Amino acid sequence: MSDTYPFTLKPLPYAYNALEPYIGTETMIIHHTKLLQNYINRLNGILKDYPAYQNWTLEELLINNNKLPKAIRIDVHRNAGGVFNHNFFFNEMKPHSPTVRRANNNPNHIFCDFLNEVFTSFQNFKEIFSHFAMSVFGSGYAWLVMTEDHLLKFMTTANQDTPLPSKLQPILMIDVWEHAYFLDYKSDRARYIEEWFNVINWDKIEEIYMRLI
Ligand code: MN
Repeated sequence: MSDTYPFTLKPLPYAYNALEPYIGTETMIIHHTKLLQNYINRLNGILKDYPAYQNWTLEELLINNNKLPKAIRIDVHRNAGGVFNHNFFFNEMKPHSPTVRRANNNPNHIFCDFLNEVFTSFQNFKEIFSHFAMSVFGSGYAWLVMTEDHLLKFMTTANQDTPLPSKLQPILMIDVWEHAYFLDYKSDRARYIEEWFNVINWDKIEEIYMRLI
């Protein structure tokens, strides 16, 4: 996660069609090879003329954004955010196992047991998270993050903002930009959120959580 300029497009940890039928092949191809690639290209284009910042990681570019020259600050914020958010999103998903019944998709996972305890029930956690995801006005993301005091917190971010400058560590996130679901669900964001729960890689989420505590 600590790569620097020139940033490159990392292959997905699964095939473009692997998240079918919940997220379609065309959505994944466009999202990865066009949208994420564009953020990478623009970020590299900005940093090309600023060698002093070419050894900064994505995280540093976001957290220490206000230490960058004013001329590039906003563009770096937007494009580094676009790269960070999409890398996070693509890496936290995995193909849905056809051997696991939909209703049992996640609650038997150890990290889901933990969420179950913290939020009374896994269903309750899911409802709160989904509520945050529905509440994003326009384009953005919903997150489960960890505070500096190791508390879990829900939040939303607009556009390509990230939780990092607020010293919040991402654990789980959903992309609710319309490009993430329009081809598969048209404007039905609620259904997209519901189905997206089928492709969360809970092992990965647990790994992220364990690194933070
Ligand atoms: Mn996106």
